Amino acid sequence: MSLRLYDTYTRSLREFQPLREDYVGLYTCGPTVYNYAHIGNLRTYIFEDILRRTLEFNGYSVKHVMNITDVGHLVSDADTGEDKMEKGSRRTGKSAWEIAEFYSQAFREDLKRLNILEPHIWCRATDHIAEQIALIQCIEAKGYTYRLSDGIYFDTSKLPDYGYLARLDVEGLQAGARIDIGEKRHPTDFALWKFSPSGQKRQMEWDSPWGVGFPGWHIECSAMSAKYLGVFFDIHCGGEDHIPVHHTNEIAQTEACHGTRLANFWMHGYFLQVDEEKMSKSSGEFLRLQTLIDKGYDPLSYRLFCLSAHYRAKLNFTWESLDGAAISLDRLRNQVYEWGEPGDVDANYAHQFTEQVNDDLNMPRALAVTWEVARSDLPAPIRKATILYFDRVLGLGLGDWQPPKAEIPESILALVQQRQQARSEKRWAEADALRQQIAAAGYEVEDTPQGPRVKSKKSE
Ligand code: AMP
Ligand code: ZN
Repeated sequence: MSLRLYDTYTRSLREFQPLREDYVGLYTCGPTVYNYAHIGNLRTYIFEDILRRTLEFNGYSVKHVMNITDVGHLVSDADTGEDKMEKGSRRTGKSAWEIAEFYSQAFREDLKRLNILEPHIWCRATDHIAEQIALIQCIEAKGYTYRLSDGIYFDTSKLPDYGYLARLDVEGLQAGARIDIGEKRHPTDFALWKFSPSGQKRQMEWDSPWGVGFPGWHIECSAMSAKYLGVFFDIHCGGEDHIPVHHTNEIAQTEACHGTRLANFWMHGYFLQVDEEKMSKSSGEFLRLQTLIDKGYDPLSYRLFCLSAHYRAKLNFTWESLDGAAISLDRLRNQVYEWGEPGDVDANYAHQFTEQVNDDLNMPRALAVTWEVARSDLPAPIRKATILYFDRVLGLGLGDWQPPKAEIPESILALVQQRQQARSEKRWAEADALRQQIAAAGYEVEDTPQGPRVKSKKSE
């Protein structure tokens, strides 16, 4: 069955065909590690995980690369303001290197809790300074750069189709440039290398052919994707905010140096909003996955909540809808658990499900097929096998889930221990009486080779 994906570059649904035989190259722009990820960021990573799982479901072997932006992303997303890392360092009183490490770990932990498959390759911008410098030299040699007092810039007017991804009206921007563009020649020009401010030592800075400084934000992705996936690879993803600036500039850099397109497909996840407003990491107060966990939610309820909307639709977060997802997840988990051993996958439903995921990752409809299987009158082992098969894409961890063990009160555990003691001393009547006392309190002891196991009669 063919897989169709929406490509932002051509603004159309296209049939996916891999460029190489051995792997599908997938590059997903990773986090800027100056703070925790918010649940909006995580929506984008969930969409990308669904994409990867769908490719694998279709039999492709995926090579997934994710970068970690630990330098160069300035507060404004353009080339002004402080570096987010240095600002984060001031906020926390830790070094920029320390916070990069700390928030990278926190991010990986979030991915794990959401059942997001780990990328095959993680790459940090600060580990690839030489590659970035080499790429800037290549762009310079082809005549696309100019030097200003604060850095080396890309001259976007030299690239005829600059801004095509975002359908930017470059001339309109130029004519109406009221925004302060400083010394830049054109509003869309951007920094490839920034100089450390004179008389100031940055925590993160390197020597370069142009002077001591640090790379611009966009160059890392062009350099690292080429290193790990080749200069023209299959799919590049990110959130929709990356279309007009970050991805537009990645494309410009690669085209300038290599004369080829960067990726065959460009895919973008739409934003999560909270109370119809954009959520931003820099605004201080924001919802983290941990916030949800602290309120008693299972992280996978958030994953299921995200799957309830198509990735190309805005999604508004409310606690009521998260509650709804939590209830659905709970029911599905319990059902799948109770169905016992899996049998064969139902071919008809498998076909329907595949049709939906292969139709540009239509998860709301794929979920509808899942609920239909759950409600169907197919034998339980078939329902189970079919839903576990779907779970390869859904990633809800349905196969591993077990009902939580009921908490056994201390007083009951004490009785169990006394009974065990009585049994080991062969005081059988006393052991029996204790068993009855435990049963009267609503618990049951079972003697297993590993020792006594106690469970609540209510949870059966
Ligand atoms: P950042 O760590 O800020 O570089 O962003 C990490 C990823 O999250 C990028 O792919 C962004 O496009 C994406 N993103 C940022 N805000 C949101 C949001 N509110 N909803 C969905 N994705 C977002
Ligand atoms: Zn990127």
